[in-house]
Amino acid sequence: MDDRKLIVISGPSGCGKDTVLRRIRELDDSIATNVSYTTRSPRKGEVDGVNYHFVSKEQFLENIDNGMMLEYNQYAGNYYGTSRESINRFLEDGTTVVLVIDVNGGRNVKKFYPNAMLLFLMPPSVDELRRRLLQRGGADEETIRARLRIAADEMLYAEHYDLVVVNKDVDECAQECLEAIRAWEEKVPANIQDQTDEPEEIKC
Ligand code: 5GP
Repeated sequence: MDDRKLIVISGPSGCGKDTVLRRIRELDDSIATNVSYTTRSPRKGEVDGVNYHFVSKEQFLENIDNGMMLEYNQYAGNYYGTSRESINRFLEDGTTVVLVIDVNGGRNVKKFYPNAMLLFLMPPSVDELRRRLLQRGGADEETIRARLRIAADEMLYAEHYDLVVVNKDVDECAQECLEAIRAWEEKVPANIQDQTDEPEEIKC
């Protein structure tokens, strides 16, 4: 398993992570994406097994107990997590895989896979972030306020990431991310690490 091929993309809710990832994969279809588990309800248009595996809280807690999760976290009152087996499958295949997860997840992944690349997407401004959250719809004022509060904490954590890219223009941002991913795979020596620790849970 080559842990340089594990790429984490984090950034505040509404900064465009999914759109940028979609564009990265249009530019290079050899890059895979992992589907996380969550207890949050699907938004309009989201499909089970495609956007997330949507599960009940009981199921999620059972998955944790069974040691199925590589990392997990609570975000705005819901659980989100990455399946260990799914990531191992990508890495055993030698596939570059992108995880779109929050900064606590990123920290846990780096602990288990030290050569994973942590990439942080920054919105051009907080006003723009609020605008994008409102435009996305499906969230009330309190939910948006909660996400902006978490965003402020997440942006403080960006300095611990390997690279910060401002998402002003999706095409330029995706291109920059893709070049950084390729450069990372060239530059960083693989250091294979098996993870046995349990992930830390940090509540946002
Ligand atoms: P959303 O509800 O907007 O889809 O996601 C909320 C936050 O949870 C985002 O920052 C997203 O990147 C993060 N997230 C999604 N999947 C995972 C996961 O598997 N693990 C962790 N730690 N965070 C995740």
